[in-house]
Amino acid sequence: MIATEHLIEVTYLIATALFVLSLKWLSSPVTARHGVWAGEAGMLLAVAGTLLHQGIVDYKLIAIGLVLGTIIGVPLGRVAMTAVPQRTALSHAFGALCVTLVGTSEFYLRAPNVPGLMMGVLSLEVILGALTFTGSLMAAGKLQEVLRQRPITYKGQNFVNLGLLAIAIGIAAILVLHPEKMYLFPFMIGIPLVFGVMMIIPIGGADMPTVISLLNSYAGLSAAAMGFVLQSKLLIIAGALDGASGFILSVNMSKAMNRSFTNVLFGAFGQEQATVAGAKEARPVRSASPEEAAGILTAASKVVIVPGYGMAVAQAQHKVRELYDALTKRGVDVKFGIHPVAGRMPGHMNVLLAEADIPYDKLLAMDEINGDFPQTDVALVIGANDVTNPAAREDTSSPIYGMPILDVDKAHTVMVIKRSMGAGFAGIENPLYYLDKTLMLFGDAKNFVGAIVREISGGHN
Ligand code: NDP
Repeated sequence: MIATEHLIEVTYLIATALFVLSLKWLSSPVTARHGVWAGEAGMLLAVAGTLLHQGIVDYKLIAIGLVLGTIIGVPLGRVAMTAVPQRTALSHAFGALCVTLVGTSEFYLRAPNVPGLMMGVLSLEVILGALTFTGSLMAAGKLQEVLRQRPITYKGQNFVNLGLLAIAIGIAAILVLHPEKMYLFPFMIGIPLVFGVMMIIPIGGADMPTVISLLNSYAGLSAAAMGFVLQSKLLIIAGALDGASGFILSVNMSKAMNRSFTNVLFGAFGQEQATVAGAKEARPVRSASPEEAAGILTAASKVVIVPGYGMAVAQAQHKVRELYDALTKRGVDVKFGIHPVAGRMPGHMNVLLAEADIPYDKLLAMDEINGDFPQTDVALVIGANDVTNPAAREDTSSPIYGMPILDVDKAHTVMVIKRSMGAGFAGIENPLYYLDKTLMLFGDAKNFVGAIVREISGGHN
C-alpha cells in the first residue's frame, strides 16, 4: 500500500518535470518535437499514476470513459493545421466541462458541510469551468464559421456582462458563508454558462485566437482550483503551468497586434470589416505571370519571402521549399520574414516551414528582418495580407493602426501571391497592392509557386 503511494508520488514528480521541460522545449522550433513528446509522456504518466490510486473502486466506468475519449480524440487530432485554433478551443471546452462536473459532484458529496476556504476554491473552480466551457464552444463556432464571426454588440453590453459575473461571485460569497443554501449552487453554474456565451458575442473572429489562449488560461486556473479541492499536487502544478502559459501567450499575441487586453475583450474589433471592405473602389494594380515573376526572382541577389495564412490554406510550404532550393542554387540569398501573428496561431508559419525542412536559421523574426528590407531586391509575399499592410504604420484611422508589420513595402520590388484583391482576416484594404513597385501574382499559392519553380528549372519540375 505504502509502496504504491510512493510509486504514485514518484510518477507525479516525473510527470511534473516533463510538463515543465515540455513548455521549455516548445519555445524553440529546434526542440519543439521533444517538447511534444515530453508533454505526451508526462500526461501518460499522470493518467497511469492516477489509475493506481487505492480510492478507485471500479475500473469499468473509467474504461468506458477512456474508450469514448479515444473515439472522440483520434479524429480531433487529425484536423488540418489551419483548424487547430478551433480544435484547441474544443479541447478547452471538454476540459472545462470536466472540471465543472467534478466540482459539482464534490459539492454535493460534501454539502452542507463544506468549510469556507474549500467552498471558495470550489466556487472558483466551477465558475471558471462553466464560463470557459460555453466561451470555448462559442469561440470554436466562430472560428469554424458555424457562428457569425462579426461582433454582436448592444448598448450596455459590458455592464450586463460584468453584472452577470458579479452575481455569480455574489452567490459564491453567500455559499462560502452559508454552504447549507444548496439551492443556490445550480445558479452559480448556470450564470457563468450564460456569461461564457455573452462574453464571446462582442468579440470578432480576428481576435478569437487570442481569446482562445485566454480561455486556455482560465481552464488551467480552474484545473488548479480543482487540484486544491481534490488535494492533488499534480493538478495544482499542471493547472498553474497551463494558466500561466496561456496568459503569457495571450499577452504576447496582443502585443504583436499592438492591442491591449481590454481592447481585445471589449473593443468589438472587426466591426469595421464590412464597411471598409465594402467601400473599396476598383483601383488599378499591376499583375505579372509566373514567367515574369521567375525572371525577376532569378535576377535578384537578395529575396525575402513573407508567408501568411494563404500559404497555410494552400499547403504551399513544400513548393516554397522547392522555390528556396531553386533560387539558392542560383546564388540568390533567400531569407524568410516571419510575423508573430502571421497565419491563425502563434508559430503557424514556423511549423509549416519546419515541416518543409527549411533551415531554421533562414527564418527571421519581424524585428530581425525589418532592417533588411531597404536592401532587399524582392519581397515575395505568399498569402500574407494584414501582416504586411503599411496602413498599420501610416493610417491613424485604420483599425490595425499601430500593429507592428513586416516592412515589405521598403524592398525594391514587392510581389504578392494571392487569389484576388480580397481582404485578409482584419477585413481591410491593403495599400501595398497599389504601389508602383508592387506586382500582384494572382493565383493559388501552391499552384503559383509551383509554376514559378517550373519556370526557374526550365520546365523540369
Ligand atoms: P491574412 O488573413 O491577413 O491574409 C491572408 C491572405 O491569404 C488573404 O488576403 C487571402 O487573399 C490569401 N489567401 C487565402 N487563401 C489563399 C490561397 N489558397 N492561395 C493564395 N492566397 C490565399 O493573413 P496574415 O497571415 O497576413 O495575417 C494574419 C491575421 O490573423 C492578422 O490579421 C492577425 O492579426 C490575425 N490573427 C493571427 C493570430 C495568430 O496567432 N497568428 C492570432 C490572432 C489574430 P485571397 O482571398 O485574395 O486569396
